[in-house]
Amino acid sequence: MEYIKILDYLKEKDVALVAVSKTKSNEEILDVYNRGQRDFGENKVQELVGKYEALPKDIRWHMIGHLQKNKAKMIAPFVHMIHSVDSMELIELLDKLALDNDRIINILLQVKIAEEDSKYGISPEDLEDFVIPLYENQFSNLRLRGLMGMATFTDDEVQIGLEFHGLCYKYLSIHQRFHMHHFDTLSMGMSGDYQIAIEEGSNMVRIGSLIFGSRAL
Ligand SMILES: *Cc1c(COP(=O)(O)O)cnc(C)c1O
Repeated sequence: MEYIKILDYLKEKDVALVAVSKTKSNEEILDVYNRGQRDFGENKVQELVGKYEALPKDIRWHMIGHLQKNKAKMIAPFVHMIHSVDSMELIELLDKLALDNDRIINILLQVKIAEEDSKYGISPEDLEDFVIPLYENQFSNLRLRGLMGMATFTDDEVQIGLEFHGLCYKYLSIHQRFHMHHFDTLSMGMSGDYQIAIEEGSNMVRIGSLIFGSRAL
């Protein structure tokens, strides 16, 4: 199975794996879980909640898709990390929901690095406006763990590399400037581009189809 091969590669590079299980059945997820995988990613709230309820409680669930504010409440009690935080309103809401649930939620700021306008995310130029209030601990139930980005969907590996390179540069700049204890995660790379992402400094990849097989459309 592809999972073991990918895992060996990632281990050697010291990169964490989020197995993206969207559209996949509980049985398929358990199969990967039984090989030792504990971090799984989903992009839809309803599906995430259903799987959380049905599957072992030591799974760390990652929300990787765009999160609508009216649905955040459903995942706040259990979600391990939200990769797709991209607005101040969402930050305020998540902080409140985390407090209500008496827990800390790990977040990544999603940065727009792709060319297409369809992708969500904060513009690189605006990033500091988000980092500073989090750094100043204005949202004490959120833990800013790092950044997430998706490259343009293209065959042009040079372009993909440049986009990831730019995000890694941002990540390192924030690291240097703010010295945040828990700021340790750069989530970039999917099935098609994870090797490029790792070359450009990623330390967490989100891989779905390579592990589970391609998804029906
Ligand atoms: C689906 C998805 C992935 C994984 O995509 P694959 O190409 O199947 O590896 C990674 N990140 C996000 C945000 C996704 O929605």
